[in-house]
Amino acid sequence: MVLLAESIDRSVTMRHKPFDGPGVEPARQGTHADVQIHQYAVKTVKMGVVNGAAVLRGTLIQMRELALATIGSFLYHSRVMVKALPQRFNPYLLVREGSEFEVKFSQSQMQRLSGILSASENDVQVTALFSRLKNLIVISGQLATVYSVQCQRCLEPMNVEVNESFELVFVDNEDKASELPKELDPVVLDENGQIHVADLFEDELILHVPEIPKHSDVAACKLRQTEFGELPADIEEGKPNPFEALKNLNLH
Ligand SMILES: [Zn+2]
Repeated sequence: MVLLAESIDRSVTMRHKPFDGPGVEPARQGTHADVQIHQYAVKTVKMGVVNGAAVLRGTLIQMRELALATIGSFLYHSRVMVKALPQRFNPYLLVREGSEFEVKFSQSQMQRLSGILSASENDVQVTALFSRLKNLIVISGQLATVYSVQCQRCLEPMNVEVNESFELVFVDNEDKASELPKELDPVVLDENGQIHVADLFEDELILHVPEIPKHSDVAACKLRQTEFGELPADIEEGKPNPFEALKNLNLH
């Protein structure tokens, strides 16, 4: 494990016990600690999770200086081991491993998602980490995929790249889900305490499908319009504007 010192032009190896395996659990709790690294002391260490890695932040202080002068801030970064996540799994068993997991599955495994895409043959790639939040198991990480949709301006097929972070909390049943604070997104496990990756990520993936996809390159999009003739009368204007209804609401 290596300490990356931002203001010191050499890295220092951490060999003190509290950081032998920072894990994600203390990191998630935002633990503070004071440690000593060789001749340096570290003050105000805070652990956190960034992109699935445990990260420590703090201020480095030189021990030999009587005045304990601050010599720089640092960032400590520890990548955890990556393992293959099974398609169906029990999060309570996986949280103990402290590993980062990777899994790949097809969009076609998700019926509701497939229903709103023009094609669903693309894969979804997920990297995830399990951690504990009090007595709950949390899965957090990054999901990446490409959606095949229809441009609502020129009606031609287009791809939308998705690369989003997620954080979901496992619960045993719907009752427990409703008890969770609203800032936590629950996922309900089956009667065996397991879940399939397609069920786990479907809602999250649907959330990232653009409501009105349009080519971001307007010039290319317009070219297609001339190639394929006139647009059907006012596609956009024809859609009801959700804010229109608000106008008539009396909000006092
Ligand atoms: Zn277009």
